[in-house]
This record gives sequence, structure tokens and C-alpha cells, in this order.
Amino acid sequence: MNFEKSGEIFPNSFDFTDKPGKSQAELELSPMNLPHLPTPSPTELTAAQRAELAGLDLDAEILRLKKERNAVILAHYYQESEIQDLADFIGDSLQLAREAKASSADVILFAGVHFMAEVAKILNPTRTVLVPDMAAGCSLADGCPADKFRAWKAQYDNAFAISYINCSAAVKAESDLICTSSNAEKMVLSVPKDKTLLFGPDRNLGNYLMKKTGREMILWPGSCMVHETFSLKRLLALKRKNPEAKIIAHPECEPHILDESEFIGSTAALLKFVQNDSAPAFIVATESGILHQMKKAAPEKELIPAPPEEESCSCNECPYMRLNTPEKVYLALRDLQPELKMNESDRRAAELPMERMLALS
Ligand code: SF4
Repeated sequence: MNFEKSGEIFPNSFDFTDKPGKSQAELELSPMNLPHLPTPSPTELTAAQRAELAGLDLDAEILRLKKERNAVILAHYYQESEIQDLADFIGDSLQLAREAKASSADVILFAGVHFMAEVAKILNPTRTVLVPDMAAGCSLADGCPADKFRAWKAQYDNAFAISYINCSAAVKAESDLICTSSNAEKMVLSVPKDKTLLFGPDRNLGNYLMKKTGREMILWPGSCMVHETFSLKRLLALKRKNPEAKIIAHPECEPHILDESEFIGSTAALLKFVQNDSAPAFIVATESGILHQMKKAAPEKELIPAPPEEESCSCNECPYMRLNTPEKVYLALRDLQPELKMNESDRRAAELPMERMLALS
């Protein structure tokens, strides 16, 4: 679809005004001076909460509360397996965004990270949106503050910013279009060629898209701490040991990992590939939570997580995603908090580029 031909997607009021330029140096924008990302610290349960939880049949209690609250649990593929098994719907960002928008439940419990719960609120504002642990951030979203993003965009004439869905609502509001890893190629190809295309906040996905589409883009220097963890040397050694196994990777991985991969795709596409491809084994370079659904969908296949740099580290588990626990899911449904709230003008600003994406997907 061509944007300029679609009045619905690009209403006349949409402002393409060029911004005055500033140099990169003036803005002092580089990966080195982006804010230091804190290690996520879980919201600890109080002693009283722990005592209340002792002896409870959590699964049964969660099911009871879901009914009582008319709640739905949406879970990302990167959640721990117990949470995936409690969910009404499991998916990647695009699937979950669609599900959140379509939900008629009064309460959406989003078992994922903060920006994903924001997406649910943006698309379905009248629902109560709960996140089991509000500290569940994301290295991509946290490494792209909206004020720096705005200043970065303002440097370029005729700029058009596509933001990966892994960013805050405030960055979405500064963006012209949102994409997910499932639809990113389509989104990039939809932008008129005369635009100066900016892509953030994931430089690895951006680099991959430039190769796939042939479109030049200026990239925000961010990355996912989990997908940058894989070791090429150890990956190649693993492949030599398991020559029958196909290497499959998420495009958030670094280029040298993607160059060795026999299939690259979104989390949902990786899952489908494992189900449908004839190979007996797969080396999977993405967050290890997806292995739970892969094992269920293709129990006869061997699944080998791609190795991180450090042998002893479980760095292929997202520390933010893993802040959520079944205990916190239960407490959130019981107490209807932590609740994600958003002021209406911020929500509307973030909704526009989200809706453009959904209309184009
Ligand atoms: S896996 Fe990476 S991109 Fe996904 S939530 Fe964790 S830090 Fe963010």
C-alpha cells in the first residue's frame, strides 16, 4: 500500500513538515552516551504476601479469579512456561497487539514487559490493563528515551521514523509508523522512497531490514541485551557437532549470527518453521522461552538453544520477562494492580502510528 494514496492511513492533518537539522555531534548521540541501563530488580513480595500464598493452589486460584474478574491473560512467548500454560493467548508482539485490541474482557493481564502492556492500553483504553511486575522493562525500550529520539529525528530533513514496537508509548508518539518483527519488511517497503527513513530502536533489526529491502535507513544505536548475547564461535562449534541441525535466528541478533542462520524470522515465524521444516533438529538463536511452545508443537524435533558468550550464563533468558511469576499473576488479578495507566492525550498520540501499522499489516 502506498501511504500517500491512503487518506485513511495518512490523514491530511498528518504533519510531514521538515525539521531543522542539527549535527549528530551537537546532539551528542551515540551508544556510548545513551543512559546506562540498570539491571532489572524484581518487585519483591512482602512477607505477608508470601505467607498468604503458602499452600494456595495457584493455578486453580488464577482460573477462579480470571472468571470472577472477567479477565484474559495474554502472554508473550518469552514468559516462563508456567505462565504460558496459564494464558488464554500466547503470541509475539503483533499477535498480542491484535489480541489486546480485539479483547472484550474487562481486565487484560499482560504477562510480558511494560511496553507490551502499554500497547494493550493504547489499543483498548477502556480495559483495566495489569502487568504482574511493573519493573519488567526492556533494554531496547529503556535505551531509547523519547526526548533523545525526538532530537535525533529533528536532525534530518524529510524524516520518516519507523519504530519497532519494542519502545515506549512516548517514542511511539514521536514515530510515523510502528512495526513488529513479523511485519517490518512490509512497513519499510510501504514508505515513499523520497523520505529519509529513520529506524529505531534496534540497530540489528534495522541492518537486517536494509539488506532485505534495499532501503537505506538511519539507525538508532540500540539493541536487545538478550539477542546480542550469542557467541559466534560457540554457535559454529555447536553446528559442527550437530550438522543435521538448522540454525534459526530472530532478526534482533547481531549480523554475524544472522549470516550463519539458515532461517531468520519473528518469534511466531520461528515457531512455524520448526513445525513445518523437515530438519530433525534446530539451533535456536532467540530468547529461550519460545522453546516451550516449540516442544509442544513439534515434540519429535530436537531443539538446542544457541549458546551465549559465557558458558555459565543463562543470558538467553530475558531478565525483564522473567520478573513475572505465577505468584505475581495471582496477586495482580486479586488486587487489580499493578495497573498500567496512561493519560488520554499521550495514548492518542501513540495510537496513530500503531493504527497505521495494523491497517497496513
Ligand atoms: S528479549 Fe530483549 S527485546 Fe525482548 S523484552 Fe527482553 S530485552 Fe526487550
